[in-house]
Amino acid sequence: MRSPESELEALESSGLRRQLRRIDSPQGVVITLANGTTLLNFSSNDYLGLANHPLTRASFIKNIEAFGTGAGASRLVCGSQSPHHGLEEKLAAFKKTESALTFSSGFATATGVIPALCDKEDIIILDKLCHASLIDGARLSGATMRVFPHNDLEKLASHLSWAERKIAKDGRILVITESVFSMDGDRAPLQGICDLLTPSPALLLVDEAHAFGYIGPEGRGLAAELGLEEQINLQMGTFSKAAGLSGGYICGSRNMTDLLVNKARSFIYSTAPAPSLAATISDCLDLIAGDNGATLRSALWDNIQLFNSEATSAIIPLIIGENEPTLAAAQTLRESGYLIPAIRYPTVSKGTARLRVTLSANHLPEHIKGLKEAFPGLC
Ligand SMILES: *Cc1c(COP(=O)(O)O)cnc(C)c1O
Repeated sequence: MRSPESELEALESSGLRRQLRRIDSPQGVVITLANGTTLLNFSSNDYLGLANHPLTRASFIKNIEAFGTGAGASRLVCGSQSPHHGLEEKLAAFKKTESALTFSSGFATATGVIPALCDKEDIIILDKLCHASLIDGARLSGATMRVFPHNDLEKLASHLSWAERKIAKDGRILVITESVFSMDGDRAPLQGICDLLTPSPALLLVDEAHAFGYIGPEGRGLAAELGLEEQINLQMGTFSKAAGLSGGYICGSRNMTDLLVNKARSFIYSTAPAPSLAATISDCLDLIAGDNGATLRSALWDNIQLFNSEATSAIIPLIIGENEPTLAAAQTLRESGYLIPAIRYPTVSKGTARLRVTLSANHLPEHIKGLKEAFPGLC
């Protein structure tokens, strides 16, 4: 039988072993390691700098005073608390959908929603670069899976017509993509995908994890920027990135969220997120939609432009290829005071290891200029 030691050694020898790096400070653009060293953080998904923002902190404290710390059980078991309902009403209005349902994380959203909607009679068509949670959700469902090359509309069209010929009368076809891709930072051709799907009975799920909060009017995402909200059946996302908190959501029709309450196992069999967290997410949505959000978004976009004037999201990867040189580059950066870790297989495909730079509204122009001067190849 194989031992954990032998598996770890195999990971180590192929440059794929991962290690937790302990930090002693709150999250932010400057973080302090356990040994007291500080690093400039260019790796977080805290795009708007809300993970340790004075208003988010004050809101969380206020909401703990009002609602306590724990939810007690699943929302179906010991009552569904008002902060969760308040959040879902606010989120549905923000996303301009009929209804919304929240989960404890984005990962739990994907692995709950997809198997609730599809089973082995159904067909799921995904972009090749979809996030692990979407792939795992699709696998868990038992549906037939078809993957199209990244952003390839022609191949999507041919998978779709194959699926329409093959699907049973009561079957369901689900197309899944992200709006901004997590490890590449590019955008999906959402208009083209919606055009393809207009004459089709297939459902479309778009994960806005890396667009929510800073793309589109009021940070409502890429679907909102393109005016496609009504054509997307399921808009998914997370509060763990630009919203600086944690939790996941799905927005869609009332019947859809009612069905998920009945069938999504990660919703039914998991304790609800803390009510104080749900209430804080609500406050955070107000912040994101309001003047503070607009100021943070414009600071973030200024920073993105300053780093790379062609970037269309806050994620700018530098693909190196093999693991060892990518790890070495990340170490050099770390020794120079920058946290930009190596992203390797299986997060990205083999031979495409990369440094992934992410920008935050809280980076100062001198942080970005310093990084560009020290490592001009990065941008
Ligand atoms: C981060 C991420 C998730 C998971 O969200 P969490 O709230 O962190 O669990 C899902 N989908 C995509 C595309 C992501 O980048």
